[in-house]
Amino acid sequence: MRREGCDPNDVRMSDVLCDFCGREWGESLPMVEGHLGSCICGDCLRDAYRALVVAGGGGAGGSGHGACRLCREERDERSWSGALPGARVCRRCVRQSAAVLQKDPDLGWRKPES
Ligand SMILES: [Zn+2]
Ligand SMILES: [Zn+2]
Repeated sequence: MRREGCDPNDVRMSDVLCDFCGREWGESLPMVEGHLGSCICGDCLRDAYRALVVAGGGGAGGSGHGACRLCREERDERSWSGALPGARVCRRCVRQSAAVLQKDPDLGWRKPES
């Protein structure tokens, strides 16, 4: 998400906040963008990936549980909730975002294996 009151014509890294924990995008905190300016940081993504993909757990998803922040869909699959209220991400987005982050060798981000 974007910091409240930031200039839309001059968005800086520090104006981009993780939708799940609220921290700023920075050199040590990579971000993946979803739809409509939503973002997930590498730390949240690692936790979400571990919960949903590695452990095969996570909370219920689908209608009635709220839409995924990144794709804005109410998908009928498991989801992970971040620290911020109502911040939910579906498993599909977690897998896609993890693949995106891992593709950039400069970031040094790896999918957790356990
Ligand atoms: Zn985060
Ligand atoms: Zn999603």
